[in-house]
Amino acid sequence: MGYTQGLVCRECGAKYDLAPLHVCEACFGPLEVTYDYAAIRASISREEIERGPKSVWRYRKLLPVEDEPVVDLQTGFTPLLKAENLGRLLGLRNLYIKNDTVNPSFSFKDRPVTVAATRARAFGFDTIACASTGNLAAAVAAHAAKAAMKCVVFIPADLEPSKIVNIAVYGPTLVGIRGSYDDVNRLCAEIADRYGWAFVNINLRPYYAEGSKTLAYEVAEQLGWRAPDSVIVPTASGALFTRIARGFQELSDLGLISTAHTHMGLAQAAGCSPIVAAHEASSLTVRPVKPSTIAKSLAIGNPADGYYCLKTIRETNGFAGSVSDEEIVAGMKLLARTEGVFAETAGGVAIGVLKKAAESGQLDPDETVVVYVTGNGLKTPEAVADTSRISVTIGSTMDAFEAALRTQSALEPVHA
Ligand SMILES: *Cc1c(COP(=O)(O)O)cnc(C)c1O
Ligand SMILES: [Zn+2]
Repeated sequence: MGYTQGLVCRECGAKYDLAPLHVCEACFGPLEVTYDYAAIRASISREEIERGPKSVWRYRKLLPVEDEPVVDLQTGFTPLLKAENLGRLLGLRNLYIKNDTVNPSFSFKDRPVTVAATRARAFGFDTIACASTGNLAAAVAAHAAKAAMKCVVFIPADLEPSKIVNIAVYGPTLVGIRGSYDDVNRLCAEIADRYGWAFVNINLRPYYAEGSKTLAYEVAEQLGWRAPDSVIVPTASGALFTRIARGFQELSDLGLISTAHTHMGLAQAAGCSPIVAAHEASSLTVRPVKPSTIAKSLAIGNPADGYYCLKTIRETNGFAGSVSDEEIVAGMKLLARTEGVFAETAGGVAIGVLKKAAESGQLDPDETVVVYVTGNGLKTPEAVADTSRISVTIGSTMDAFEAALRTQSALEPVHA
């Protein structure tokens, strides 16, 4: 048996057994997983976690599974890089990049999906599905392949070509919708009701969301069992942002780290920043927007967890920022050229907001800052297509090379 007790309504506290449910029947509030923390506390330790698998499953006791086998592509345990070069440029002495571009399907979405797919199989579903801005569909399709389950994924039809390949290669039924993600999501909620499929981010959302807590656990463990002072999280629906905050809180409640005081920084693209706008208006009410940004993975105009994100920013003395498409591209290039990490547009959003926060004095030069870089640059190469250039092209002889060498500037870096 695992340590999961059941589901509870976040608003009215009504309790439910573990089931593929996501809204409270009494008040329509969101349902969340509850755990037997006393039992976890009695059995968990840093040493036991450190001996575990090199994947998110080393934190199994804190994830909503029982004793079923997991659908496992060895997601997680990704590098936490000390960003010396970027830190020097921004005046931050303890800056880290959590490099989640190197997960099995190349984004952090493998974390929530390994948990949701495991639960879907345990609940007896034969078809796994999702409404996606792109990366979720890839993660669902990859895990469905591994679990030998049927897979139907729904995306806005105008996604980047590389993302479509990154989904289709795993062999799902891929449905493109003429419309925004919010249109896709609305349709999928109806399909989930009618067809009895496991939609990871709809009827399995309580289990799905929990997988993202591992991005807090890993960072704390990699920092030598402590929480960072500030983090920056690229945000769409808000599930990732709220669960990272929850993850630090849980580790501190369990005594695995000392009390966490992490300032939660939320990053959105200016072309889709409903949560940032509400925060700047000191409101807890998110006004839905129509997205228009190159950061398509973050283009959710009506974020399901927006209200809880705003509460988390308040409770953690956090912050929120947004950046233009130009700043997103500049952020992608800056990260690649200073730290050797090629991130997708969402990474450019996080780096752009980091830069603003550093320049405005929001971040202290000595504090420990972690930026979550959540998706791989090869998913959105068109954003930096202007970098596709060769310094000089020559024949394969020493003479040709030395002739080029004598030509002033021929061997300059492509983007000096
Ligand atoms: C989905 C996604 C996010 C945001 O996730 P939410 O939980 O919806 O806020 C961030 N980065 C990338 C690359 C994503 O694909
Ligand atoms: Zn309720």
